[in-house]
Amino acid sequence: MVKENLIQVQNNIKAACEKVGRNQEEVTLIAVSKTKPIPLLEEAYNAGSRNFGENKVQEIMDKYPVLPTDIKWHMIGHLQRNKVKYIIDKVTLIHSVDSLRLAEEISNQASKKQVEVDILVEINIAQEESKFGISRIEAFQLIEEIAKLPNIHIKGLMTIAPFVENPEDNRKYFRQIKELSVDIMQKNIDNVSMSVLSMGMTGDYMVAVEEGATMVRVGTGIFGERNYN
Ligand SMILES: *Cc1c(COP(=O)(O)O)cnc(C)c1O
Repeated sequence: MVKENLIQVQNNIKAACEKVGRNQEEVTLIAVSKTKPIPLLEEAYNAGSRNFGENKVQEIMDKYPVLPTDIKWHMIGHLQRNKVKYIIDKVTLIHSVDSLRLAEEISNQASKKQVEVDILVEINIAQEESKFGISRIEAFQLIEEIAKLPNIHIKGLMTIAPFVENPEDNRKYFRQIKELSVDIMQKNIDNVSMSVLSMGMTGDYMVAVEEGATMVRVGTGIFGERNYN
């Protein structure tokens, strides 16, 4: 089941790339495995997945030691400062940085452990009350401040678009993220790259790819519905 789903998602990404003349290699598929048990992650791994996304520190801690070491773990959920120390040397990318205080803690812990940590800045593109992330206006100042910190490197932007029935409704938001990344890039800030755009989930990843996503985060479309009970 997981294998078939993965092939389907990969084919959809390929089709979306072809539609707009992009190379499929530009897009990394992150298998969002939150709440899912180890055997399902192993199925995805055996089918070729190497990038996994989790939104809870505890779940990364539980899964990290029992799965193959060539997996790249992505922290995609809201991160509390007091938990940074547990995952700092386990994750390949933290997608959800939305404050200077969090970035400072990441920088501190990274310096302590002598690692370099890549992060994305999370933008709440539709300004939804229920979501974390900062506004487009706030992004410039926050990025300039984070850029000065040691052992932490901004690689791009992440957004969680609204939940919609019709993915076309989110096209404008993906376009705005792409435009924002170009505006930030033009500022030529030291230690800031905009090579990663993490946007698009099960409901809208094809539209996101058409609008320039370089990472899509797909959970349900690979592992099936989540059960939170
Ligand atoms: C759960 C989650 C996803 C995956 O959502 P699906 O709709 O199941 O694909 C992607 N990004 C974030 C930040 C998530 O928390």
